[in-house]
Amino acid sequence: MQQEPRPLSAELLLEIETLHQELELLKREKLDLEILLETTTVHADLVEAQLYESNQQMQLEIRDRKVAEAKLKASEVQLKVLLETVNQANNDLKIILETTTTHGDFIEEYTHNLSIRDPLTGLFNRRYQEKSLERHLKYAQEHQQVLSIIMSDIDYFKNFNDKWGHQAGDVILQEISKFLMQNIRQSDVACRYGGEELMLILPGTSLEEAKSLGEQLRLGIQNLSLEKPNQFLEKVTISLGIASFPEHGLSSLEITQSADAALYRAKAKGRNCVITARELLV
Ligand code: GH3
Ligand code: MG
Ligand code: MG
Repeated sequence: MQQEPRPLSAELLLEIETLHQELELLKREKLDLEILLETTTVHADLVEAQLYESNQQMQLEIRDRKVAEAKLKASEVQLKVLLETVNQANNDLKIILETTTTHGDFIEEYTHNLSIRDPLTGLFNRRYQEKSLERHLKYAQEHQQVLSIIMSDIDYFKNFNDKWGHQAGDVILQEISKFLMQNIRQSDVACRYGGEELMLILPGTSLEEAKSLGEQLRLGIQNLSLEKPNQFLEKVTISLGIASFPEHGLSSLEITQSADAALYRAKAKGRNCVITARELLV
């Protein structure tokens, strides 16, 4: 026979009720935890994806930065080279400027010399001779001073050239010119009148003084030992014609013509001699 269950005590019932409630609570907590776990898992995936993406981005940035750094380094090197070049150019310019400034006078004098000197002999050229004679005559006129000119011409120079060659002839012209320059005053002007004709302008010099100088020069040239490299050359002589201001003319043309006529007479007389324009009158 089945026994009737004993009625539960109120105490037990309360305990069961409490247990029920706790169970419910635990179930809810479990549910919460499950939701939390799922959320965290999803979130973690998201975070991981984001991290991966950021990492990729960072790698790209690092690569870009490295490229930029390399470019910067290359530019720095180029800049250094450029700076050095600019510095060098600057220094060169400074030197050029200094040279130009320092040697400006020299360059000016040099180019001026080129325009007034005969390149073979170093004497003043014909253009300068004309200007110089005009200038000195004007001065002599204004200051009532005398002035003489000597025209000289190498004797039988054509023969010399034919025998020794044109180059040897050039050496003769150079040596005679050098000798003239060494034996005149600083105020005198030695010019190449043309070909082998040379003119000396002697400011403040009388006809007598000019004749005496002419004789000295004639003798000096007659005794000049002439040589070309490795070759002694035949001696040469010169003939000279002298005229003075104001005795033989007032203009440069008149005086030059008088000196020329005297030279012509010297040639006619046998060469290697000095004739003054005064001697032409007797
Ligand atoms: P003279 O005694 O009458 O003056 O006779 P010459 O032979 O000197 O005179 P001429 O006028 O017959 O000849 C002048 C010569 O001078 C001819 C020419 O070749 C030479 N001569 C002129 N200028 C130069 C030059 O620059 N160099 C050389 N080597 N010879 C020159
Ligand atoms: Mg001549
Ligand atoms: Mg001659």
